[in-house]
Amino acid sequence: MYVLGIETSCDETGVAIYHSEQGLCSHILYSQIAMHSEYGGVVPELASRDHIRKLVPLIKQCLQESQLPGSDINGIAYTAGPGLMGALLVGAATARSLAWAWQVPAIAVHHMEGHLLAPMLEENPPEFPFVALLISGGHTLLVQVEGIGRYQLLGESLDDAAGEAFDKTAKMLGLGYPGGPKLSALAEQGIAQIKFPRPMTDRPGLDFSFSGLKTFTMNTINASGKTDQDKADVAAAFQQAVAETLSIKCKRALQQTGLKRLVIAGGVSANKQIRASLTQMVAKENAQLYFPRLEFCTDNGAMIAYAGCQRLMAGQQQGLEIYARPRWPISELD
Ligand code: ATP
Ligand code: MG
Ligand code: FE
Repeated sequence: MYVLGIETSCDETGVAIYHSEQGLCSHILYSQIAMHSEYGGVVPELASRDHIRKLVPLIKQCLQESQLPGSDINGIAYTAGPGLMGALLVGAATARSLAWAWQVPAIAVHHMEGHLLAPMLEENPPEFPFVALLISGGHTLLVQVEGIGRYQLLGESLDDAAGEAFDKTAKMLGLGYPGGPKLSALAEQGIAQIKFPRPMTDRPGLDFSFSGLKTFTMNTINASGKTDQDKADVAAAFQQAVAETLSIKCKRALQQTGLKRLVIAGGVSANKQIRASLTQMVAKENAQLYFPRLEFCTDNGAMIAYAGCQRLMAGQQQGLEIYARPRWPISELD
């Protein structure tokens, strides 16, 4: 079955076509980053308007690239949440209308389930069950995954998400938006001399907290000479603290569940140092690490097409309503 996937939850318009047996047929991404960077962050109203402009042409292009007429599409998957309401509505309304026109089922996909399943698009996908660390702009979640839709939340961030921590720290260092990749590049020029805290690692449990790192970063910058080298050193120390904290918690999650497979996904899973420190950790635990290709770490249509295809094949579909749910805890997914 051919499934068209549509992602518009935030600032990227993603479209893809996935086939249940042949795999990914085509995928296109349009990022609004350049437009929002002028404002230092995502402007919701501008995001919605740009999705309206870009989405239909991208769907046309995606169909052309996979040489499929619309009539070959067997189902349409769209991100229904969590995300920005206006942005979600563009994808949901377009998907629902196309599904009506083509008389095929539509399926509302949870954005974080999309991220979680993104490594399934790679050559050696993980088998169930596994532990998943989802680290993105809005979420930091540790999930025990038994199968599609069988997710048990093990831990989450009590305040800032990992990506948010990267973005805010980058802002303090005078780097542009989104700060994650920029901070990471700067960190390569620095030495992690200052010891940043490893929040919540000194007590049991699998929850995270990253907001304290902001204050620590601010104080460290203020106490430094504020040279380029000082900033690079702060970036390196911050990144190392996040990487080690994530690694400590993931090790705990593997030990607690007895599982030997760890999946990382979401924008922050593109980070080289985080990947390196988790690679080291899993080797010591005799476990395996799985992650999506770089372009599928951040938002994309392919992960939505994949997740939607799995759910449609399991017999699920959405009614005729345009379903959008800006706040949608992954624990409420069945
Ligand atoms: P959510 O998925 O929680 O709704 P989102 O969709 O905005 O949030 P993603 O697109 O998955 O998040 O990821 C974007 C985040 O990833 C941003 O915070 C960005 O700074 C961060 N990020 C991207 N690349 C890197 C990197 N190399 N190192 C650190 N952070 C990164
Ligand atoms: Mg984004
Ligand atoms: Fe995302």
